[in-house]
Amino acid sequence: MLHELAHYFDLEARKGGMSLSPGAGGTVPWPEAIAAEYERHDFAASLLPAYAAQNEAEFFAVASEVFFENPRPLRQAHPGLYAVLAAFYRQELQDVPDQGQGRVYRLQGKRSWRERKKIRAERGKAKIKRNRAGGTAGDRPETE
Ligand SMILES: [Zn+2]
Repeated sequence: MLHELAHYFDLEARKGGMSLSPGAGGTVPWPEAIAAEYERHDFAASLLPAYAAQNEAEFFAVASEVFFENPRPLRQAHPGLYAVLAAFYRQELQDVPDQGQGRVYRLQGKRSWRERKKIRAERGKAKIKRNRAGGTAGDRPETE
């Protein structure tokens, strides 16, 4: 399911001409950003299942599964790939500071007011849930 969604998002990003901006200045078109990660990925020493080596599209779909299911080990093993996926999905692990990889990617473009409203509502709900549970959301990826 997640895998198929990732394929869909990938296609939409390509159609929509999405770009990521690595650190200060300059933008990288989405297809180039993921292609670069695919090219330099060491599949022999990879956290990703072997199927990821098939092609760029499968690489992204498989990496997306790992990103959502096992973000911490992925960041540990493949920080560059992790940074690209975090920018793509606008998701970042909350409680661990970035290790200064110098490859922080940010999404280009602004969210619509509708998106922002939804995000605020979701954050509010999550906060209420956390307060009720009496704990912190330390171990969860931020649901932005
Ligand atoms: Zn696939």
